[in-house]
Amino acid sequence: MQNEVAPVTPGTPTGNPPDPPGMPDDLIIRRSPVGIAVIDGEGIYRNVNPAYCALYGFRPEELLGHSFLRVFAPAEQPRMMALHRQFLAVGGELKGEWEVVDRAGALFNVLSESVSIRGDDGLACRLVYVLDITQRKRTEQALQSSRRFLQSVLDGLSAHVCVLDAAGVIVAVNRAWREFAAANAAIAERVHEGADYLGVCARAVQPGHPGAPEAQAFLALLHDVLAGRRTQFQLEYACHSPTEQRWFVARVSRIEGNDPVRFVVAHDNVTELKQAQEALRLQAATDDLTGAASRRSLMERLKHEYERVRRHPDHHCSVLALDLDHFKRVNDTWGHAAGDAVLVHLTRLMRDSTRQIDVVGRSGGEEFTLLLPDTAPEQALELAERLRDRVEHTPLQHAGQSIEITVSIGISAIAGTDPGIDAVLARADQALYQAKHAGRNAVLLGGLPT
Ligand code: GH3
Ligand code: MG
Ligand code: MG
Repeated sequence: MQNEVAPVTPGTPTGNPPDPPGMPDDLIIRRSPVGIAVIDGEGIYRNVNPAYCALYGFRPEELLGHSFLRVFAPAEQPRMMALHRQFLAVGGELKGEWEVVDRAGALFNVLSESVSIRGDDGLACRLVYVLDITQRKRTEQALQSSRRFLQSVLDGLSAHVCVLDAAGVIVAVNRAWREFAAANAAIAERVHEGADYLGVCARAVQPGHPGAPEAQAFLALLHDVLAGRRTQFQLEYACHSPTEQRWFVARVSRIEGNDPVRFVVAHDNVTELKQAQEALRLQAATDDLTGAASRRSLMERLKHEYERVRRHPDHHCSVLALDLDHFKRVNDTWGHAAGDAVLVHLTRLMRDSTRQIDVVGRSGGEEFTLLLPDTAPEQALELAERLRDRVEHTPLQHAGQSIEITVSIGISAIAGTDPGIDAVLARADQALYQAKHAGRNAVLLGGLPT
């Protein structure tokens, strides 16, 4: 079958539809919402449309026959004239954003594009299209200033902050974050803007990586927040450098109502807080002068051992009540500072004579309590006797003097039938009292509860 070719109607264009009747070019130009002007080689307006005039606030006759430089600030005029001449002479592109002035002298921004055309006289002219972009410019500036505001707020925070997108990629960081990264070369190249933070966290989970268990917990929670299973979390973790111990609290939260979805990650260095807490804990747990356990922590350990004996009757725990003999005389003879040094000296001897798991506690002025877990009374008696002997034969060398001391010790053991730890301590005190009465520098094993 032969191909049929549609007949071409003579006079009908095959491409664009025909121009509608009654719409000549100058009407289109006059109706255009875009400002249009024709400027000759000398920079004189040859033609302007109403939108162009309205843009600058001039009447047509105020522009036609005048220099186009009147819509530029005086300082800009030489440059604009040079650009105009160069465009007409050499060609190329002349488009972009300009700051211009209207009839009243107010500055505003336009976007323009020029093309070269021939005027009626055959000379080159510049046809320019102009759009007012003041509003867009203001919106851009407002956005930029709110970005700057946000950045300076972020930079003012001492926490290391980054913002993540939905894929866990870093889209912004604050100054503290950058400074921390710069000071920790190992992580610097992994946590900058554009870096895959989720990937960095996933690698930190690899076995053998320092802090892997904490990193594991962090990663799981981070996944939860990114996936929308939770809106935020907080986690404390250790991140020690080769030179110092450091602790951080990480907080991750979804920024509500933001499109696109964003998440804030803040790492706060809480090392000082942690150290202060630890110092307070130690302060409460130890005696300032001797470093022995405080009465409070001694009581806690005693209760703990008491509970153990009650649960496991075959578990032994002995308690020693120890008191310096005639300590008042030490103070009176050598002075209070020497007395203090004796207390420190005695504590060291008690520590050296006991095991790591034993507790040496200062229960009062020159009275101490020793807690000996897993120790039967007979073993405690042996230890006490050795300690008594050692104290007697290890005088304190203080300020060129040799200060001899002795101690008396009473022993008791926790029994499952004891109503509480006070009863155990009372028996040890009773035995101590008897040791004092027996002449001091002595050890006495108390009886079991009756
Ligand atoms: P005893 O053999 O009967 O135990 O006689 P003692 O002198 O050791 O006992 P006493 O209870 O009469 O005196 C205890 C002294 O311990 C009185 C007190 O000034 C002194 N003392 C208590 N705490 C401290 C302290 O922290 N530093 C010094 N240097 N002395 C202390
Ligand atoms: Mg005493
Ligand atoms: Mg005493």
